[in-house]
Amino acid sequence: MSAIVLIFSVVCGAFWGNSPFSAGTDAPPAGTRGRPGAYAAHPAGYVAHPGAARRVRRSAAQRLADVSFAVMRLGEAARRTGRLYAQQRSAAWAQRVERDRLQTALRRERRTAAALRRTVGAIAGAQYRTGSIVAYTLRITGSGAGKSLVRAHEQADRRERALAARARSAGRESRVLAGESATATARAAALTDRSDRLKTAREQAKRGLGAARDELRNLATTASRSGSCGGLPHAVSSAAATVAPAAVPRGEWVRPVERYDLSAPFGGAGGHWVGRHTGQDLKVPVGTPVRSVGAGRIVSLTCGDGFGISMVVRHRRDLYSQYAHLSAALAGPGEQVRPGERIALSGDTGNSTGPHLHFEVRRTPSLGSGVDPATWLRDRGVGL
Ligand SMILES: [Zn+2]
Repeated sequence: MSAIVLIFSVVCGAFWGNSPFSAGTDAPPAGTRGRPGAYAAHPAGYVAHPGAARRVRRSAAQRLADVSFAVMRLGEAARRTGRLYAQQRSAAWAQRVERDRLQTALRRERRTAAALRRTVGAIAGAQYRTGSIVAYTLRITGSGAGKSLVRAHEQADRRERALAARARSAGRESRVLAGESATATARAAALTDRSDRLKTAREQAKRGLGAARDELRNLATTASRSGSCGGLPHAVSSAAATVAPAAVPRGEWVRPVERYDLSAPFGGAGGHWVGRHTGQDLKVPVGTPVRSVGAGRIVSLTCGDGFGISMVVRHRRDLYSQYAHLSAALAGPGEQVRPGERIALSGDTGNSTGPHLHFEVRRTPSLGSGVDPATWLRDRGVGL
């Protein structure tokens, strides 16, 4: 263990210790300016040396730290705006449905009120004429013969008053509906506007994230090939935990990444491997946080071979997990890790045909002692 730590310290020591990385802030430090870029408006893109106002040229390690943080921050921003956009879009749709319902009800009520008013007017006109005839008949006969006419007149009068009342009620209802419809229309417009703005923000975050991922991929490839294993300052993982808190695992074991597409399975044969595939490949974008599947201690962080930047965690004497083709390491050899703790960022380093995580479960720290990771996790209640 100590030998491994010592070797790592020699190889990757330059990446550990105090860093100029400015954690937990979201604005450029006073007196500094960042390199322009698709995601340059981030504090991690700036270098702040206390007492030094001049711009400082960043080293490759610093750039890797900056870009790694940018990927995590923008990834969280893209997820957050994506979630908010989905919620707002759904709320705007529901409000437009409500607006349409009220407008339909309003048109129907207005038609009813107009029809009632026309009916009342027609009856009033007819009654006026009938009333004239009744009055005339009563005047000329003065007998009980006109009583049936009087009753008919009274019935018609009552019907007219009832219809007039219904017409007034329909008018009032129309006015209420008109008010509700106007409110619903304004709300629908506001929600649609907010939804459109969130859509734009999501697209911007996605574009920035894409640019940052591309740069991270290039930096990690260079680092891995040159024997720099992508170890990041602790300030990066601390700052990332602030802007993008990790989900708290429920059990003793978790998946190595939260979301993924399964690709090459354990045991497969093909031109990519000398023998059989020794792990399970999980297709994830560059910069996806990689989690330790269980409690343990990091025993190695290596680079330069087919696995690219690769980390092994010891869970117990005969149980290890390996995470390969990484972009950067958020923790280093010797460190204790909890289940679900973010230990690295996924990548495309080493012998890799595209961004993915190569995940192994082994009986020893060495290649060749692997078991099927999907089955192993499933046996512990974790689906993969
Ligand atoms: Zn693989």
